[in-house]
Amino acid sequence: MTTQTTGIHHITAFVRNPQVTADFYAGVLGLRLIKKTINFDAPEVYHLYFGNEIGSPGTIITFFPWENSRKGKVGGGQVGYTTYVVPTDAFDFWKERLAKLNVDAVQTSRFGEQYLQFVDPDGLKLEIVAREQGALSKWAFGGVPADKAIKGFGGAILYSTAPAQTAELLVKVMGLSKVGEEGGYARFQATGDLGNLIDVNVESMELGHGGAGTVHHIAWRAKDDAEHALWRSHVESNGFQPTPIVDRQYFNAIYFREAGGILFEIATDPPGFARDEEPAHLGEKLMLPAWYEEHRTQIEQLLTPFDIRVLEEDK
Ligand code: ZN
Repeated sequence: MTTQTTGIHHITAFVRNPQVTADFYAGVLGLRLIKKTINFDAPEVYHLYFGNEIGSPGTIITFFPWENSRKGKVGGGQVGYTTYVVPTDAFDFWKERLAKLNVDAVQTSRFGEQYLQFVDPDGLKLEIVAREQGALSKWAFGGVPADKAIKGFGGAILYSTAPAQTAELLVKVMGLSKVGEEGGYARFQATGDLGNLIDVNVESMELGHGGAGTVHHIAWRAKDDAEHALWRSHVESNGFQPTPIVDRQYFNAIYFREAGGILFEIATDPPGFARDEEPAHLGEKLMLPAWYEEHRTQIEQLLTPFDIRVLEEDK
């Protein structure tokens, strides 16, 4: 079997307000809301998916907006930074755009690349890097034309409480290759062209705590159901305790916590987000899995409506 993931499938985080989240990820960052559904384990909470035009694996960030939830603390046992990749000629566009929209960004460098680092309204740490790799997004929204749009994830910075063990997992179990070490980070590369460069702190980091503005888990790609089943036994035979395979409607998932405290998921590429909506209308309606459909009226009453809207500054 392949015991090499091609990279990140999706990243899931906690936020507070769905409108604030939509205004940032669609309004500011220009991503497409590709699915509006509910947390299958807590149906009174939205599960919102943002990505490229069809929500390709490697482009998808997902949110559970819990109103009034406590703010978390970014730290060990979490994804520290979620890295977005833009076209090589788009770095200055994003620098100017973030400045214009009053998003404070700091320019830093790592492994010979320039990054713009900033936080979302809940404090989730994000960064933008420009690279050749990865197909251009076909989605244009508000002030973000498709040729400058975010292509997907460049990767992530993992904050581990046991970095040596996290590094070993990435190489021996997930199939990434170590490609460098610099400035307190080790860099690992997966075989895909999106979500493929993963940096891990070299010195152990103190445990953070979950809550708004923190990542809940990072999901890695499995090509199909057959490979997914093999991944489960592969993970288990390496001493981890994966959950049974869970149906997440748009992919199947297994979860396990790695030694550095980070919750890992392995998710299948198929069936994807067009399984219950036309590609032209993704994200427009509240989609419920069949087993919740009979409770739609009650569920809708518990959810605060929000809009995908162009920012005033972009009109
Ligand atoms: Zn997930």
